[in-house]
Amino acid sequence: MPVTARPLLPFAEQSYVRDLEGLYEPWAAAPAPAPELLVLNDGLAAELGADPDVLRRRDGIALLLGTGVPDGLSTVAQGYAGHQFGGWSPRLGDGRALLLGEVLDVHGRRHDIHLKGSGRTPFARGGDGRAAVGPMLREHLVGEAMHALGIPTTRALAVVATGEPVRRETLLPGAVLARVAASHLRVGTFQYVVATLRDPGLLRRLTDHAIARHHPTAAAAEVPAVALLDAVAAAQAELVARWMLVGFVHGVMNTDNMTISGESIDYGPCAFIDAYDPETVFSSIDHGGRYAFGAQPEIAQWNLARLAESLLALVEPGDQQAAVGALMPILEAFPDRFLAAWRDGMHAKLGLPAGPAEDESIVDDLLTLLREDGVDWTSAFRALARVARGDADALASIVPTQERFAGWLGRWMALAPDPDVMDRVNPLYIPRNHLVEDALTQATVGDLAPYHRLLDVVTHPFHKRPGFDAYTAPAPPGFGDHVTYCGT
Ligand code: AMP
Ligand code: MG
Repeated sequence: MPVTARPLLPFAEQSYVRDLEGLYEPWAAAPAPAPELLVLNDGLAAELGADPDVLRRRDGIALLLGTGVPDGLSTVAQGYAGHQFGGWSPRLGDGRALLLGEVLDVHGRRHDIHLKGSGRTPFARGGDGRAAVGPMLREHLVGEAMHALGIPTTRALAVVATGEPVRRETLLPGAVLARVAASHLRVGTFQYVVATLRDPGLLRRLTDHAIARHHPTAAAAEVPAVALLDAVAAAQAELVARWMLVGFVHGVMNTDNMTISGESIDYGPCAFIDAYDPETVFSSIDHGGRYAFGAQPEIAQWNLARLAESLLALVEPGDQQAAVGALMPILEAFPDRFLAAWRDGMHAKLGLPAGPAEDESIVDDLLTLLREDGVDWTSAFRALARVARGDADALASIVPTQERFAGWLGRWMALAPDPDVMDRVNPLYIPRNHLVEDALTQATVGDLAPYHRLLDVVTHPFHKRPGFDAYTAPAPPGFGDHVTYCGT
């Protein structure tokens, strides 16, 4: 039988390997004793110019594990550093991951294809280089949900079980996640070059590479490094606002988990809030609440300050004070940038136009009510749209006493909210924590049906479908008392 000429994935030139020698270690994936494809993202595969049925073949699965790589492709582990929970780690890097290659999709956009869980690398430190099925499926599920919500995100192309057990608190089935990202350049990549490798030439190459790839207009700026910081700050202000508008808590906003592209990355102990409370923390290792829901804008700004420090030498060589003077206004402007994106997003959630509102405290007064009454964030906005359509009792089932909302509702209705706008931006279905945990628990013991059902639900977040009411309810009482979302 003639072999199809179409490659498994249409790999392009490897720009990272070409441009950034010193920022990676060539490395190969570990073997997998009994591979089994658990999930393939057919839509994403097609967008990348691949045939999903071909990727399902043995050689396709070997590619998705990194064990069968086309000739000429150099797989590498990327180097990076990072501040983890505020503490400096000079050398993190891909301890259990590999950059497989780069693909130009059907629109001509470049993506990294990256494998997570593919074995120990020179960056592994004490780690086993492995990943468990549950956390890799979570990364796939949350990424697809975010994508369906219109939020920039890395996405999973596939999750393949390796057939090898992984030791965590218990023995768990191992898996490799094939991740697709605009790139894997992180704030921590810049920190690694500047603070660990101390290589000014590499810093220049990295900055040029990042600009060409993600923020090309910065190349023409008077000082491209300043324009790069500005572009990353703009992307992150928008991203964090959009996370928070859907109630998302990233959970580990370390500098190595913040991208230069503005895509969300590394869905570990992340979660969506039920009741609105800015102090909500999901990671069991986040004792100080550093990465709490409401702390996210401040942490993004803190991380951007680390990027700014890394860029100093490119701004005013030899004159640190002048360089700080050029970068500081960007950091100082971050809170207002975030607030503008948040306000416009909240206005859309409330069916109001962007820009300053006639009633300036309409958003904050609602937030106070929601917090004081512990109201479910996601349900509240769909219920409010029903109020705007004339159903005066729509809030009854989700708030303790409707009377407390009467004054606010009167002010809001006077602004003539548009319920159709609201229903286009306020999801009905999000990956609620108790549903995710339940689906992952069952997937881990071999039943993927609940997982696929939940994936179907959260990838169609806005349109009400009959038979899916159970997916709109907040967690049963007591669920959040045991924080179990720490698995990575
Ligand atoms: P993450 O928490 O996934 O953002 O990872 C933080 C750092 O720890 C990265 O350098 C990872 O490569 C590394 N890491 C996490 N888990 C493992 C593991 N099981 N084996 C080796 N390295 C790991
Ligand atoms: Mg990470």
